Amino acid sequence: MEKTYELLTKYAKMMAEQEYSTGEYSILMIDTGEGVYATKYGADLNDLKPEEVEKLNIEALPTSESGMRAMVYSQTPYCQKALREGRTFKPSLDDMAQIIGPAAVIADTSSGSVGKSLKKALGQNAGCLVLRGKEPDGKGKGYTLTVGRNLYEAVVAMTVLEKSAEITYLADRIGGVKYLNPAETRLMRLIYKKKYSKAEETAKTAETAEGVISDTKDNAVADLSGENTREQLLRSQLVEYGKKLVKSGLVQGTWGNLSIRLDDQYMLVTPSGLDYMRLTPSDMVKVDIHTLKYEGNLKPTSERGLHGEIYKRRPDVGAVIHTHSKYACVFAAALKPLPVVDEAMKNVFGWEIPLAEYGLPGTKKLMKNTVDALGENMGCIMSHHGMIACGKDMETAFENCAKVEECGKKYLRL
Ligand code: 13P
Ligand code: ZN
Repeated sequence: MEKTYELLTKYAKMMAEQEYSTGEYSILMIDTGEGVYATKYGADLNDLKPEEVEKLNIEALPTSESGMRAMVYSQTPYCQKALREGRTFKPSLDDMAQIIGPAAVIADTSSGSVGKSLKKALGQNAGCLVLRGKEPDGKGKGYTLTVGRNLYEAVVAMTVLEKSAEITYLADRIGGVKYLNPAETRLMRLIYKKKYSKAEETAKTAETAEGVISDTKDNAVADLSGENTREQLLRSQLVEYGKKLVKSGLVQGTWGNLSIRLDDQYMLVTPSGLDYMRLTPSDMVKVDIHTLKYEGNLKPTSERGLHGEIYKRRPDVGAVIHTHSKYACVFAAALKPLPVVDEAMKNVFGWEIPLAEYGLPGTKKLMKNTVDALGENMGCIMSHHGMIACGKDMETAFENCAKVEECGKKYLRL
C-alpha cells in the first residue's frame, strides 16, 4: 500500500505540473495485481495524502486491451471543449496516432452499462472522451479517460490527447488540420506498442511492484577527471536541456530528441524512448555523424540520421533540438509553413519557417525532406509531426526552439 501511495503521488504530481488545470475530475487508477487503487475525487494532486487513496471494489480496469494497468480521468480544457461540442477528432499528428490510436471517440455513458461503453469507445485506443450527460444548455459534460501499461504512459497519453484537441481547434484558424491516412495510423499504433519505448515501459511498469524511480539530480555532472572534459560537459548539457524541454512543456513524455556536435566526426545524442527526467550524462550516445555507428548499449534516438545530416550540411550548427511542441504542431497538422510576423524574429528565421514534406518517423524520407526544407534556416516545421530547431550551441538551439513556438503563437493571435 505504501508503494502504491508513493506511485500515485509521483504521477499525481506529474498531472498537477501541467501548464493547464486537469480539472475537478482528476483521478489516477492503478491495477497493482493485488487490487485496483485510485486517488479519491477532489484529492490534492500536488500534495496527495495517504487517506486520499482508496482500494476500489472492482477486479480489473474497464479497458479492452490486455496489459493496460493504469487509467487517468481528467478534465483538461480542450478535451472538455470537444466534449461540450460533441466534436471527435482523429490523428493529424504521428504522436496521437502512436500514443492514442486511430481515433478519440465519445463514449456515451448517460444510459446503459458504463463499463461496456468505455470498453467499446477505448477499443484499441489509449484514450476517449466520456459523456456523462448534458448541461441545462444542452452541451455535453463529462471527462477524458486515458489508459496505459503504467501510470507514466496514461499521464503522457492525457497530455498527447489534450494537445491533439487543442491543435485541432487552433488549426481551424489556418484552414483546419489534415488527417493522417487511417490505415497508416493503425499500423503506427501497433508498431509503437511493440517496439517504441520498450525499455521505458519495462522500467515504469516495474515501479508498480518495486517502488518509484526518482528523477536524476539536476545538473548531474559526469566524471570530469581524465581527458574528455569537454565531452563530459556536453553530455551534462544534453541532460540539462532535455529536462528543460520537459519542464517548459515543449515535449510530451519521451518524445523529441536533442543532439550536440562533439567534433568533425561525432555527435552526442539522447537515447531513444527514455524518460528525460531520469537520464544521466553517461546515457547520452556518441554517434558517428557520417556512418551513424554508435557506442554502448543504449540505442540512440531514432532520428539520429536527421541530426547527423544537419551537422554534415550545416557547419554553422552545433546543436539540434526536435520537438512535437504545441504551436509548431498546429502548422504541422494543417500542413502549412509558419509565416513570421515579428520583425525581430525575421532576423532569426527570415519571413517564413518552412514546412518539410511528410515522412514516417525515423525514416530516410523524413530525414531528406526535413533537411531539404530546413536549408539554411534555424527552424523547420515537419508535416504531421513536429519541428526542428538548431543553433550554434545548445543554448541558442533551445532559444530558437522557444522562438518557433512564439512565432506560432503570434501568427495564431494568441
Ligand atoms: P526517439 O525517442 O527515438 O528520440 O524518438 C522520438 C521522436 O520524436 C521520433 O520522431
Ligand atoms: Zn518526433
